[in-house]
Amino acid sequence: MQYKSKLPNVSTNIFSIMSALANQHNALNLSQGFPNYPSSQKLNDLVNNAMNTGYNQYAPMPGNLDLLTAISNKYQLLYNNSYHPEKEITVTSGASQAIFTIISTFIRPNDEVIIFTPAYDCYEPAIELNGGKTITIQLSAPDYGVNWETVKSKISSKTKMIIINSPHNPSGTIWSETDMLQLQDLTKNTDIIVLSDEVYEHIIFDGEQHQSVCLFNDLKQRSFITASFGKTFHNTGWKIGYCCAPEYLMSEFRKAHQFNVFCVNHPMQKGLADYMQDSKTYTSLPNFFQQKRDLFLSLISESRFKIKPSQGTYFQVLDYSEITGEYDVDFAKRLTKDFGIASIPLSVFNENDKDDKVLRFCFAKTDETLVKATEIICKI
Ligand code: PMP
Ligand code: GLN
Repeated sequence: MQYKSKLPNVSTNIFSIMSALANQHNALNLSQGFPNYPSSQKLNDLVNNAMNTGYNQYAPMPGNLDLLTAISNKYQLLYNNSYHPEKEITVTSGASQAIFTIISTFIRPNDEVIIFTPAYDCYEPAIELNGGKTITIQLSAPDYGVNWETVKSKISSKTKMIIINSPHNPSGTIWSETDMLQLQDLTKNTDIIVLSDEVYEHIIFDGEQHQSVCLFNDLKQRSFITASFGKTFHNTGWKIGYCCAPEYLMSEFRKAHQFNVFCVNHPMQKGLADYMQDSKTYTSLPNFFQQKRDLFLSLISESRFKIKPSQGTYFQVLDYSEITGEYDVDFAKRLTKDFGIASIPLSVFNENDKDDKVLRFCFAKTDETLVKATEIICKI
């Protein structure tokens, strides 16, 4: 039997490749983005408690009401902004499923979707599977700033969606209020949906404020926010996230969501809802991660890499152009095999695999791992 692939140019993603290589060579794995410290005991206990007190059948399709309410309260507290718990928030199987379902719900063949590269790797295949056309805007290292004239020139009558991501994986940069206002201006009086991937909203440094789309009223009216509890609460393996949007968009999303996953696992939703009753569980995160970033940076200050401190996410990109001219994928693999440290080469997220000689290191690791990793980095 034969079939024609809908994703002929897609192969195993870089996170699987680098993590497997790290395991094979017993290397420190700072490649795929996940913490190597445990998720909170209190949260684990609350999930166990939910299992033991009867939360073992299907949750309501949009999500457990306590969790939807806790999420809504979070937007009120952090952004002075309201999303109706029952009409404007849906719990999903990780941010990935939210992103996939948003794209599937709204993108038809030949619709254009603008993404900014380097881009997280799940956007483009979802656009392609739905017959859409990805329009890339390549950002340049080391600032990865947006030229808004370029964005304007790429918007056409076929543009149906713009996907943004701040704090940004993989570069660790953030968008300013001015960037958001520019986006708001450019999309005014259009039918463009904005998908704002905000999975790192709580991982932002140096006192900067996260510029959520919900803070900009016109933008909010056309936007989905996607979020990930895995990123927020150090349990990427639980694969629970959510999305928020105005009711007229969310009701359309749920038409697809109900036949895609129907609902997300119930005891974890209830455990997360109980855990979020204490807002410190998320308001303490910028500080927690800033300590990790600062430790990592202070220990590599004497290394041969060029460093521009990460502004957000738990990733630090390092420029190795003064060390070698090797292709970044080859260099990342060599460091894993010969030096025992795994990272992610950025070219795989760029248009035409543009190689800026930068690697991404994840610092969501125990201090002990960070000390060991930085000793290696300083020897390269
Ligand atoms: N978007 C970005 C930018 C990510 O880094 C990730 C990985 N956490 C996701 C989406 C997917 O999140 P999840 O693991 O909750 O599916
Ligand atoms: N989001 C994680 C990262 O950027 C990886 C998730 C995955 O493995 N697909 O490293």
